[in-house]
Amino acid sequence: MSNTLATRTSTPRESLLNRLNAVLACPQCHGPVDLSNESAEIRCAHCGVVGERTSAQLRLGGFTTSELRQDFLNRLKETAKRKLGTFYPWAISLLAPVHMRNLVPKFIQSFDTSTELVADMGSGTNTYQDRVVCVDGGNYENVHVTADLAQLPFQDESLSGIVSIAVLEHVPNPADHVREFLRVLKPGGRVLCYIPFMQGYHASPHDYQRYTSQGMRKLFKDCDDIQVSVGAGPTCGFLWILQEWLALFFSFGSLRLYRLLVPLTWILSPLKYLDLLLVHHPAADVIASAFFVEARKPARR
Ligand SMILES: [Zn+2]
Repeated sequence: MSNTLATRTSTPRESLLNRLNAVLACPQCHGPVDLSNESAEIRCAHCGVVGERTSAQLRLGGFTTSELRQDFLNRLKETAKRKLGTFYPWAISLLAPVHMRNLVPKFIQSFDTSTELVADMGSGTNTYQDRVVCVDGGNYENVHVTADLAQLPFQDESLSGIVSIAVLEHVPNPADHVREFLRVLKPGGRVLCYIPFMQGYHASPHDYQRYTSQGMRKLFKDCDDIQVSVGAGPTCGFLWILQEWLALFFSFGSLRLYRLLVPLTWILSPLKYLDLLLVHHPAADVIASAFFVEARKPARR
């Protein structure tokens, strides 16, 4: 199997998986892993079997199916993700009350992805381009590496760039993730992270916290060149809360009716485009729906 992977680099996915083999590490001890054996197992000399390899995916941790489907909203989202695949992010961007500023493509274009490894941590079913590594807890078709994002299966200083969009609100200890991002980034490597501020609870499969612009700076305090900007504007912040409020108010205490009403309130979602203007207001951060932070790992001293 290893020979097949090494010689046949016809698809972009195969060539990216080959590049990943060179930077893969044990998610527990960060030591080297053995990919030379013919079996599908990925072994660490210290920790034993730490993952498995299929022709399309490197599996070194991640969510169990029951974790991904543990409540009503999650089951709905998981079914939609599996059924819609790459259309899921597109459908969400259309229906959701959030209009995210389009900063990710420009960030990715600032790397030479033919030589520099850039990973999307918590990609879900989204793919930005063939040469961006999709890492997620769920084993969706597009995902190259399944992992627990707090225990990345990559060697120290092996990646040039990290994108993480709407992920860190879903983890119990975001600082652990940022520390892990900085471990696997090369000195001078850059991270672009998007975290919500004014948004309703949305488990995927969990939802723990929100960040202000100041909180974002504190979270990335060990970085250089920290730039925080509004990622989704005040109308989006207001709209999500309004939609939830309308569904709560008109469901008269019935959870079933509330669940039916929420999708109907999405008819208001196009109002989010008012943020094309409001996002530039100097006080937009007061009730912004979300923030971007772009930061650089300090160069080696
Ligand atoms: Zn190990």
